[in-house]
Amino acid sequence: MCDLFVLFNGYSKLCNDKEMLANCSCSLILGDHNIIVDTMTAWDSDKIITALAGYNILPDMIHYVISTHGHSDHIGNNNLFLKAKHIVGYSVSYKEKYFLHPFESGEKYYINENVEVLPTPGHTLSDVTVLVKTKEGTVAVAGDLFENSEDIENPTIWMSAGSENPALQRKNRAAVAEIAHWIVPGHGPKFKVTEEIRNSLSKQI
Ligand SMILES: [Zn+2]
Repeated sequence: MCDLFVLFNGYSKLCNDKEMLANCSCSLILGDHNIIVDTMTAWDSDKIITALAGYNILPDMIHYVISTHGHSDHIGNNNLFLKAKHIVGYSVSYKEKYFLHPFESGEKYYINENVEVLPTPGHTLSDVTVLVKTKEGTVAVAGDLFENSEDIENPTIWMSAGSENPALQRKNRAAVAEIAHWIVPGHGPKFKVTEEIRNSLSKQI
């Protein structure tokens, strides 16, 4: 088992037809490895360092940085973590060395017995979801596969947030809900996956 803490709840809101405010959910996983998932915008480094200090974690104590995809609000502070292996979507690297992994064929990337990285394309064609075994069950840190819990009943929310392949995203949303007890969406608070949610998502495929 490991512990998962959502350091910041993501959000997104439209200001007018030309501007929106958005930042991503940022999560910390503590266990055999210390892992940070989605590092917000480049202007949030002080916030992240302060939040980590609350768990007695310094940036150099992080073993893996995972960005669920390569958009600017999910990668902004990856360079705080220079002792860590970096996973950005389907790309796995440490310094200039790249580790090849067949995410394209649907293969999970295994970090330890409690943490796996699952390819879940849709929002971008190389999105990943982090599956974490915790005391409260499996938590899926899903990035923008889910925008927030409201996007289940109102799919225009995730579709208008941008989807490079909506059909694939629908399929992966249903698949992740099938295996997860909780979901941390990219731009909203963590929510519990109910049978009703699973049924609704499988009907949308
Ligand atoms: Zn996002």
